[in-house]
Amino acid sequence: MNIQENYSLKKQNTFGVDVSAKYFAEVTSLDELTQILRNTSVQKFKLLFLGGGSNVLFTQDFEGVVLQLNLKGISEKILNEDEVLVTSKAGENWHEFVQFCLGQNYGGLENLSLIPGNVGTSPMQNIGAYGTEIKDTFVSCKVLNLETLVVEEFNHEKCDFGYRESIFKREGKGKYVILEVTFKLTRKDHLIKTEYGAIQSELKNLGVENPTIQEVSKAVINIRQSKLPDPKVIGNAGSFFKNPSIPMEQFLEVQKRYPEMPHYPNGNLVKVPAGWLIEQCGWKGKQIGNVASHELQSLVIVNKTGLASGKEVFDFSTMIIESVKEKFGIELEREVNII
Ligand SMILES: Cc1cc2nc3c(=O)[nH]c(=O)nc-3n(C[C@H](O)[C@H](O)[C@H](O)COP(=O)(O)OP(=O)(O)OC[C@H]3O[C@@H](n4cnc5c(N)ncnc54)[C@H](O)[C@@H]3O)c2cc1C
Repeated sequence: MNIQENYSLKKQNTFGVDVSAKYFAEVTSLDELTQILRNTSVQKFKLLFLGGGSNVLFTQDFEGVVLQLNLKGISEKILNEDEVLVTSKAGENWHEFVQFCLGQNYGGLENLSLIPGNVGTSPMQNIGAYGTEIKDTFVSCKVLNLETLVVEEFNHEKCDFGYRESIFKREGKGKYVILEVTFKLTRKDHLIKTEYGAIQSELKNLGVENPTIQEVSKAVINIRQSKLPDPKVIGNAGSFFKNPSIPMEQFLEVQKRYPEMPHYPNGNLVKVPAGWLIEQCGWKGKQIGNVASHELQSLVIVNKTGLASGKEVFDFSTMIIESVKEKFGIELEREVNII
């Protein structure tokens, strides 16, 4: 294994922030991973695991060891005529994995097409889009316990998924590395979900009436490409904030002042689109220094000039949080992992 010193992470994070790691290595097997974790020189430093770097914001150089997980491989187990278990190692690219499943005509992940990042990171924040989350098809994941270096299996319940949440983002944070993930997918009679977002109108544009899972994927890809900035062109990490859920009383209070506020029921709470709140505060398309809120999607903060530091992006996000709090009394929470 090649451990590199003072390694630039600019290409390892989709924000394109130019920071360095004291040490950096790519890990391609569990053996390599445990070997490096047993190394007493490595144990002196803090550790950071990276997948595709599409949900992190580095605010400073990382004075520790960054390990990029490149474990590869996909396997399948046919359960019956209707269902199949598909297992992917952590380092497989998420979108390529979704396309592999669609190529086999396995249904369940099509609405999650084109989400950046790796399969191993998908349970971290229970990735979701267009009415689907991975928790809908997730069966289990294998993780390495960083304290004991023993491989453990986490079932659905143990992962305790929530909206952009799981045990790995809360009490399990920094304690486990996800090594592989297993999904249960359909082989026929797929559940087609087109009611969310602009999928139906995009399918109409494509001239499709009774969509296949492959056509749903195509529609999702088209919508995402037209709405979201491509990190290869302009640095970003997708939605920077979560959509807040607020108590009914608070919602009714705010609604008196803003009757047009979009909202959705969420159990006892009411979910409000963070993008709408940010836009109402005048941030859409606004640029300060090297950082801006994206002109088509205010929830996305972009490295507009390509020269932004992580600190600048972070400060920009703080200004947004403060102005939303002042105008609506609602506290936005960052979705992106701040390092
Ligand atoms: C343009 C764009 C659009 C996006 N759209 C969506 C969307 O629609 N829905 C959505 O949910 N997300 C979206 N995201 C966010 C991002 O794609 C997901 O959060 C993705 O799962 C991150 O994967 P990654 O491998 O890049 O994670 P990284 O950024 O590499 O890591 C994220 C966090 O997970 C930790 N980590 C990484 N790998 C492991 C592992 N194997 N085990 C334990 N911890 C690990 C890291 O230390 C870090 O804290 C978008 C991002 C971009 C740039």
